[in-house]
Amino acid sequence: MTINRRHLLGGAALAGTAAAFPLSLARAQTSATGGAAAIAQAPAFRRFTLGDWVVTALSDGGFPMPARLFPELSEEDFAALLEDAFLPPEAVPAAVNAFMLQQGGRTILIDTGAAGGMGPSLGKLPENMAAAGVAPEDVETVLLTHMHGDHIGGLVAPDGAAVFPNAQVIVAERELSFWTDPAQADAIPEPQRGTVAAVQGVQAAYEGRLTTFAEGGAVIDGVEPVALYGHTPGHTGFRISGGGEELLIWGDIIHAAPLQLPSPEVYIGFDVTPEEAVATRQRIMEEVAEERIMVAGMHLPFPGFGHLSRDGDGYRLVPAPWQYTI
Ligand SMILES: [Zn+2]
Repeated sequence: MTINRRHLLGGAALAGTAAAFPLSLARAQTSATGGAAAIAQAPAFRRFTLGDWVVTALSDGGFPMPARLFPELSEEDFAALLEDAFLPPEAVPAAVNAFMLQQGGRTILIDTGAAGGMGPSLGKLPENMAAAGVAPEDVETVLLTHMHGDHIGGLVAPDGAAVFPNAQVIVAERELSFWTDPAQADAIPEPQRGTVAAVQGVQAAYEGRLTTFAEGGAVIDGVEPVALYGHTPGHTGFRISGGGEELLIWGDIIHAAPLQLPSPEVYIGFDVTPEEAVATRQRIMEEVAEERIMVAGMHLPFPGFGHLSRDGDGYRLVPAPWQYTI
């Protein structure tokens, strides 16, 4: 008789094992050493230099993305891709990262995490930013890749006040208008209508300090916007260079690394225009792989940096050079 691993771990037994495992592991660790402190992590920020830029990844936490967020993947294909990535089959764990750029005394934050808007596994940006030695008052500019809740949630406090009291908030003109122009309201997918109120909250908190850039226009000195439309109508990456290297902070080009790195054609239900999002992902992944540009992603495994290397029909993420020895 041949022992088949799929059979051995099949069906309900697999689901039960996968669900119970992390909890039992955590219990074993805490009971052996007497408390939750035993599994506490170091503060989740990582930094390196790119020429005269200091680039810091800040974790906001993470959340699980279930199969239903990837409409054209069958449950079997979803589970198979997760098995290939050594993950249990229920959901893809997705990081939520923000990035900070510092140069010549200025501090630029790119995206702000979800704050309390998406449950207790997120909203950790403030503590990680504090651990990295930066106060909200220090942030001069907040650049937004787009205006979904896991990117703008951290801008506004529960009482409606601006979290970053001295910051100019900058977003693509076509992104802001998509969420705020009544003429475009019908184009907002039904499940995303809640974003409108969140965007209005940002407008109110940052009145007079929320500015936009036009397609092809400059943003701020040394930071080049890269149009990556599709996930949302104004979804934009930001490119910096220094020391002979380039870094593209590409926002939500990848939401679920175990699915979309091997299969860039897999879209997510949050894409406003999925076909355009897939075409953009395929184009920019090819470009950064060929030109050997380092990328940083809001949902790539923390700290979210790497290079892309061709791997069959897709890509694999290679750690950035500085990550080998940090
Ligand atoms: Zn996102």
